[in-house]
Amino acid sequence: MDFPFKPVERVILPIHGSDELFPVNQVYCVGRNYAAHAKEMGVDNKKPPFFFTKPSYTITTGDVKYPQNTEDLQHEVELVLAVGEDMSIFGFAVGVDLTRRDLQGQAKKDGKPWFRGKSFVSSAPISEIIPIAVSEDLSTLELRLKVNGELRQSGSCADMIWSPQELLCEMAMDVPLKQGDLIFTGTPEGVNKLKTGDIIEASIVNKIDLSFTII
Ligand code: MN
Repeated sequence: MDFPFKPVERVILPIHGSDELFPVNQVYCVGRNYAAHAKEMGVDNKKPPFFFTKPSYTITTGDVKYPQNTEDLQHEVELVLAVGEDMSIFGFAVGVDLTRRDLQGQAKKDGKPWFRGKSFVSSAPISEIIPIAVSEDLSTLELRLKVNGELRQSGSCADMIWSPQELLCEMAMDVPLKQGDLIFTGTPEGVNKLKTGDIIEASIVNKIDLSFTII
């Protein structure tokens, strides 16, 4: 096939314990999927979660440069679903939905999209993808996030308002879910500020770790 220029290369992620690579397609995110986090964001009812997207340039496996135009960069540790063929769950990862909270807050006030708050370069650090075992029960997974060794977020996937399977079904009504899609499934409570020099350690307990520095 001929193109007028070289197509931009696809973002790829390592697959834990495999030489194969996971080709990233779309990156979807779920808002307010844990009641306690919805409450800390000032929303005290159990409305259904909603979706937004991050462009694939937000995905990174390295350190993160403190973004411009913000004085309130915040962490959100999340279980990330990796979609396989026929809308199956291929695997999972731990990811951090980095957010310019001040820009997101202003956008909320102004009734504008969250784009500037959520979609800056490297705003979606993510671990390797762990292929899912047949017997894996994702609701037993535990999320942790430490900053400079201090525990900031700790939550159980059992506390998700909508389960991974429910999220897939709900999303499939609105978007063409494809193999390679990633779904950040929302964060438990404890989101907070980050500054240059902070070392972030995110994990799914006993499964996978992710570490990066804000530079
Ligand atoms: Mn989030």
